[in-house]
This record gives sequence, structure tokens and C-alpha cells, in this order.
Amino acid sequence: MHTPDLHEWRRRADTLEPRAQAFIDGRFTTATSGRTFPTVSPAIGRVLAEVARSDADDVERAVRAARQSFENGTWSRCHPRERKKVLQRLAELVRKHGEELALLDCLDMGKPISDALNIDVPGTAAVFDWYAEAADKLYDQVAPTGEDALALVTREPVGVVAAVIPWNFPLDMAAWKLGPALVAGNSVILKPAEQSPLSALRLAELASEAGLPDGVLNVLPGYGEEVGRALGLHPDVDCLSFTGSTEVGKLFLRYAADSNMKMVWLECGGKSPNLVFADCTDLDAAARRAAFGIFFNQGQVCSASSRLLLERSIHDRFVDKLLAEVEALQPGHPLDPATRTGALVDVRQTERVMRYIEQGQKEGARLVCGGERVTIDAGDCYIRPTIFTGVTPDMTIAREEIFGPVLSILTFDNEAEAVALANDSIYGLAAAVWTDDLNRAHRVSRQLRAGTVSVNTVDALDPGVPFGGVKQSGFGRDLSMHAVDKFTQLKTTWIQLQR
Ligand code: NAD
Repeated sequence: MHTPDLHEWRRRADTLEPRAQAFIDGRFTTATSGRTFPTVSPAIGRVLAEVARSDADDVERAVRAARQSFENGTWSRCHPRERKKVLQRLAELVRKHGEELALLDCLDMGKPISDALNIDVPGTAAVFDWYAEAADKLYDQVAPTGEDALALVTREPVGVVAAVIPWNFPLDMAAWKLGPALVAGNSVILKPAEQSPLSALRLAELASEAGLPDGVLNVLPGYGEEVGRALGLHPDVDCLSFTGSTEVGKLFLRYAADSNMKMVWLECGGKSPNLVFADCTDLDAAARRAAFGIFFNQGQVCSASSRLLLERSIHDRFVDKLLAEVEALQPGHPLDPATRTGALVDVRQTERVMRYIEQGQKEGARLVCGGERVTIDAGDCYIRPTIFTGVTPDMTIAREEIFGPVLSILTFDNEAEAVALANDSIYGLAAAVWTDDLNRAHRVSRQLRAGTVSVNTVDALDPGVPFGGVKQSGFGRDLSMHAVDKFTQLKTTWIQLQR
């Protein structure tokens, strides 16, 4: 099969005409106000499209369409096999249009085209496939009662679901919400991040083509303050599933309290620890995965292993191995298939990360590589993979989520200290442990306060495995059958029987 090269991707980028209107009730439409906002590509340094700037009026339209579609039952009450077919077709269409979808995300938020093609697109299709397969395997229950009753416990869709997502994995984040919400029979309003709205709009069109009835999926591009807030406060939205920062996650709890007490599910930030014990024999693998864990997607990963905790005796050896790994991860043009590190999402984020790097130096951490912002072609949102050693737990770079390619290395002398350091965070999304000692692996995993603990790898992820956090990383789980729980209510039907 022909694989496009940089030249070919550039040509496609130049001729791209992305969908840029809101998608409501099965149709593309301008915002009611007629306003638009520019979405700028950090990869090619120019405006990609003027996108509909939805606001509360459009939220009103979309909620009405979603409610109507839910009530008319074409999706909410259709046979599970029908939902299965539609979601399977959607997965196929995502694969079929994979190059276009990958290009949209690469341009919109700067990730390497190879990652978008080989990770984001197949990952998105896999999630739709997984939930398609689940459609006709979701059984209800009969509760144990006396013989004079039959108590049915059935799962019902909650109704109108709003999903508000971030920009780091625009396609995957959409699929993580849509898969379980749609398979359960809900109607959804998806609000992509303002930095990366384009692939979600194309996805809505593909869902329609796959046979999803009008109104069941609506996509509202726009700003958080305008669209996200209006969804959070809307009295006819039954459930809101959010992925993004802890700060904004907290706002959604307030919005729910100030409106209709809608269910809220939060997947928020992280500062995930990666613990490497001296008894780990494959330090090469540990170093390779440690580099991936923080530098993949330019560090813009909620579960990024941004705190590396090294047992003191292996510190120097391990840092040398890491530095060797980083050589191959220097930033390149996102459209070049050879690039492994692309651009950060925008200038604001790039400047924010640079401020953390300065802060780390000011507070006395030792910068052992990176720390520089670089320009590639017309883009200036690139930062070299950055590593700090000598980081202490009180430093800002050890505590706050940077959401960029910055690794903070701390040391420990024993297991108890390692666990205490790892848990010393307001976050609890993920953690990793490297050890050859099976007892230690279990002992430490149990004590780590994190939604996912990976042993001898980082960032273990699969559509069938729940993903989410504890503490201020949020609550509720994406992926797996457990995600369906978020988008369903249990109904008890008690049938009194005559003896
Ligand atoms: P963000 O919280 O700024 O934005 C996320 C979404 O919320 C966007 O769609 C945005 O428009 C909307 N929003 C912003 N302000 C709002 C407001 N006042 N009211 C309503 N909605 C509002 O986060 P971001 O910068 O897009 O993404 C980065 C954050 O997301 C990081 O903290 C990262 O850890 C987190 N994240 C978490 C996960 C996870 O699964 N836990 C996954 C990816 C990203």
C-alpha cells in the first residue's frame, strides 16, 4: 500500500477543506449567532478553518434534538443488534477514512502524523468495535427474592448525555464517551475542545453515514465558557461526562448542583509516578518505557508518567539510559512520517510549559536535557524533551501537572519511602512499578492510590480495561463494561406473585 511522505501530506494539508459547522439533528449548521472562531494549526502555523462558535442558543437546539430523538425511540429503543451494526459500520468508516481523520488531528493539535495514523485512528475504531460487540451481550438481572415475587433489575439509558472533552486525543476521547453512551441507547451532545474541533465534526458525519438516526449525535464546537458551561447548567441534560483539567472538572460539579443535579463523571488531571526499583533487571526496557511515558504526545497525556522515582543505587545509570532514549525523540515536523515528537497544541500551552521549566530551574532542580523551545517551519510550539534531576517533593515541578514534555526525577532509599513519595499528590490517575520481585509488585500496587497501576510497563491501556482516577483525578471509569454504568440507570420492577 502506498504510504504518503512529507511532501504528499503537505499537499493534502494545503487542499484540506474541513467540516467547520456545528452538527445538530443530523445536519451541519452555522451557529445561531452566525459567529465563528479560528482554529489554528501549530503544525503549519496557520488558520485551518473558521469554526462555528456555538453558544447557549445552540445548546438549546442540540438538547431539543437530542431529547426528541431519545423520546422517539429510533435509537433508544431499537434492537441491540441494530445498535451493534451501526457501531460496527462506524468503526469501519473510521478505518476507511483513517488518513483524513489522522491528518485533521495532526494539523489541529500538532501530534505526529504517524501517531495519529497508527495509534489514534486504530484506537478509536477499536473502541467502537468493542462497544459494538457489547451491544447484544448486556444482560439484565433478576434479584434474589422470596418465591412470591420477581424482582427485575434492568438497565435503562439515562437520556440526554453531554460529553465535554479535551484536545490531547480528540478522536479517542470522543470514542471513549460515544461508545458506551451510544451502545446504552442515549442521545449525545459532544463538545470538542476549541483547540481541536475538526475530527469530531467529521466523526459525526461518519456516524450519520453509518446509520445513526438524526439527533442521536450532535457536535457543538465552541468555547468552554460558552458551550461547556451551558451544557453543564442545562436542566434537560441528564448526564455529563467530562475529560479535562481538575479545575474545570470542579466547575461541572457546581453546574450540576446549580441546575438539575445531573449525573457528572470526571476524568481529570494527573501527576503519575513511575517507580523503578533496583531489583528490576531490564533497565533498558524501563528506560525506554519511562521516556515513552512522559514524552509520548509531547507529554500532553493525562496519565503521563511525569514523576520518575528512582532507587538511589541505580539513579546515575538510569539517567544515562534515559538520555540515550531522548536522542531519538527530538521534535520534528508533525507531517513528516519519521517524526516521533510533534508540536504542542498552541502558543499558550507552549508558554505555560516553558514557565514551568524556568520555575524548576529557579527552585533548584538540575536541568539535564532539553528546556529549549524550537521553531520548525512556520511553527514555534516545539519544546525539546526536558529532564530534571535532583527534584524534591516540595518543588512546583513535582506537584503540578505540567502537561508537556517535562520529566521530574526524584530518588528514594526504600520501598516505604517510594510509596509515600508516589502517593504525595492531589492526583491519583495512574502509576507504574518496575520490579522483578513479584511480592513487591503486589505489595506496592496495593498501596498506590491510583486508578491504574502498570507493573513492568507504563500506561497499560485496552478498550476492555477500565480507565480513570481516584482523588482529584476524578471518578467514574472510561472504557470497558464499567463505562456503560455511567450512562445507564438501574430500574427495579417488582412483580408480586400469587402463591
Ligand atoms: P480543560 O479543562 O481546559 O478543557 C477541557 C474541556 O472543558 C474543553 O472542551 C473546554 O472547552 C471545556 N471547558 C473549559 N473551560 C470550561 C468552563 N469554564 N466551563 C465548561 N467547560 C469548560 O482541559 P484541556 O486543557 O483541554 O486538557 C488538558 C487537561 O485534560 C489536563 O489536565 C489533562 O490531565 C486532562 N485530561 C484528562 C484525561 C483523563 O482521562 N483523566 C484525559 C485527557 C486529558
